[in-house]
Amino acid sequence: MVVLKTSGEMKAWRKKIHQSVGFVPTMGALHSGHRKLIQASKNEREKTVLSIFVNPLQFNNQADFTNYPQTLERDLEVAQACDVDVVFLPEKSQIYPTKDPITLSEKEISSVMEGPFRPGHFEGVLTVVLKLFNLVQPTHAYFGKKDYQQYLLIEKMAKDLFLDTEIIGVETVRDEMGLALSSRNSRLNSAEIHQAQKINKILKNSLNSSQAKKELEEIGFKVDYVEDLWGRRFTALYLGEVRLIDNVNL
Ligand code: AMP
Repeated sequence: MVVLKTSGEMKAWRKKIHQSVGFVPTMGALHSGHRKLIQASKNEREKTVLSIFVNPLQFNNQADFTNYPQTLERDLEVAQACDVDVVFLPEKSQIYPTKDPITLSEKEISSVMEGPFRPGHFEGVLTVVLKLFNLVQPTHAYFGKKDYQQYLLIEKMAKDLFLDTEIIGVETVRDEMGLALSSRNSRLNSAEIHQAQKINKILKNSLNSSQAKKELEEIGFKVDYVEDLWGRRFTALYLGEVRLIDNVNL
């Protein structure tokens, strides 16, 4: 496994590879959800690149950015144990070499759910993913369906911009009680974890989205939305300061 820190090193590595390259972009604080993406790439592609970059451009909330969990040493151990070929670990200046970066936006998928609640978020995501794709030039890239709206958006970007990268969606990894694994879960205490473990069941078992929203609010969540779309039910909600998202197939 090699750890590459500059955009030049990443491009140089890629130029020498004439095999399929699976790419797993992450913001670190790796858990079994990320591992599943890595494993899918390892099983299906000849080389696997993992990136760890907490992208400031996609955080609409400064506190969320500052408090985003950072566990680099452990992450590198996970990457090593998963036998990835490259960990791409850029500083901000490597990804944003200019003062006022060119950004990418979309108005349809981004106009619902996470879009209005997190202004600028998807613009930040699209921008960083395109930049990373340009450096890694993956033949295939793996995204979790936990962030389903993001996954659809990236798929649309790849199609719309004629990218040579196939986008692959991976099912959400959950704990034994159904809680979707998330780096932000590490900011919850055990009582909050217990409460968060109810989200999945309520989404699945409620008659409709407004019933689900009511039930989530009754047990103490501050709910941004519950919405049924694309054959799925989505929610975003707060547990204290921590904002969680999840979605289930209907
Ligand atoms: P993040 O580090 O949170 O930006 O996530 C990096 C990638 O891992 C994204 O494609 C996420 O959708 C995916 N991911 C995060 N949590 C999970 C999970 N519980 N199951 C499957 N994929 C996930």
